[in-house]
Amino acid sequence: PVRTRFAPSPTGYLHLGGARTALYSWAFARHFGGTFVLRIEDTDLERSTPAAVQAIIDGMQWLGLNHDEGPFYQMQRMDRYREVVAQMLKEGTAYLCYSSPEEVEAMRERMRAAGEKPRYDGTWRPEPGKTLPAIPADRKPVVRFKNPLDGDVTWDDVVKGTITISNKELDDLVIARPDGTPTYNFCVAVDDWDMGITHVLRGDDHVNNTPRQINILRAIGAPLPLYGHLPMILGADGEKLSKRHGAVSVMDYPAQGYLPEAMLNYLARLGWSHGDDEVFSMEQFCEWFNLDHLTRSAAQFNNEKLAWLNNHYIKQADNQRLADLAMPHMIDDGANFEGAPALPVVLGLMKERVNTINELADAAMLFYREPKPDAALLAQHLTDAVKPALAQFAERCKTVEWTKEALSAMMKEVLAANGLKMPQMAMPLRLIVTGQLQTPAIDSVLQIFGREVILSRLAKFL
Ligand code: GLU
Repeated sequence: PVRTRFAPSPTGYLHLGGARTALYSWAFARHFGGTFVLRIEDTDLERSTPAAVQAIIDGMQWLGLNHDEGPFYQMQRMDRYREVVAQMLKEGTAYLCYSSPEEVEAMRERMRAAGEKPRYDGTWRPEPGKTLPAIPADRKPVVRFKNPLDGDVTWDDVVKGTITISNKELDDLVIARPDGTPTYNFCVAVDDWDMGITHVLRGDDHVNNTPRQINILRAIGAPLPLYGHLPMILGADGEKLSKRHGAVSVMDYPAQGYLPEAMLNYLARLGWSHGDDEVFSMEQFCEWFNLDHLTRSAAQFNNEKLAWLNNHYIKQADNQRLADLAMPHMIDDGANFEGAPALPVVLGLMKERVNTINELADAAMLFYREPKPDAALLAQHLTDAVKPALAQFAERCKTVEWTKEALSAMMKEVLAANGLKMPQMAMPLRLIVTGQLQTPAIDSVLQIFGREVILSRLAKFL
């Protein structure tokens, strides 16, 4: 059975790269009816915060990337790590090292000077027939992993292809500090084993950790998962995506009016492809996503494309859902919903041309505030030639059937009778009714406002 995991370190927000890793791990588990595990890697006590854990959980919830198991917290698994350390010491796959930090630094310095890759020189590494130094008084040892001295570590990375690292490049890694706390790569290996992880998808900043984790997994007799290292996400300028590029936290996107399905669709395509398909549901993605066609090169984040997808999903979205999302923004902007047209109807009219919910909310405001037409504009458009026509229009508004079609036909008759063109009447009408010159089609606007509102607004100016 397929078991994947997302293993964030809670040191900030859920960023776009993390969200994509989570999405792929989730979708892969879904594809095979497997299990998706959430693991919080919170052993860096100085940088981990409960707020960051919450931010990650919020981000995943917004995206709908539900985990089947967890969240597991590494800080709650300390006893287990100690147990494995003890077992490794017993089996001789790890050893106590009494070299002081100064001594270790000195040996690294020597190697650097000799042009070698700095590493632990093996002073305390037990070998058959070797006599170890006398244990210094009052010194607490670290525990080091007995990394193989020869041979290579090779794995077939599902993204990058075969990767081979010589064991000569790898240190005897410290797996437990003098106070007994376990270190990063060791915890990850133990967790992936205990949690039965079959496929590890993560950012390619972890490629260097993989051979170390593989060696540890082998030493403790654990099966190896398959690894896939996803290239990072770059900004439009080709630099690593960072705050400079604007929003990097996933939760900035709902705040800016993005829908989760747009973000998911966008992230799915950012590092993976399925022919020419650009727009697809998560159901479809889970059906397709099988680790083929992962992109090897770094992906470039493109705001316009995300905005285009957001426009697409806004157009598809249920109007009531759009209303629930837009309402808080509009209340902040002082919208008055009393006696005003129903918000879902208004949003349905306006959703075609906006890229975000925030733009949609702004556009809809014209139905929910008192119009204050600019006097100069009004003077320019409400000319003496137009006034009689508008008066006739107002009169006929009292009895005309209140549909878009009937309103439109009636307007054309009034225009023809007065020898006017559509803009000559539509512009002052827009100003009077909405306070602005840019609105959706005037017949739709009139229809949605309703007879009462239109008559009372016209009456003020005629
Ligand atoms: N905790 C690591 C990170 O947030 C991920 C480790 C992993 O996936 O193995 O970058």
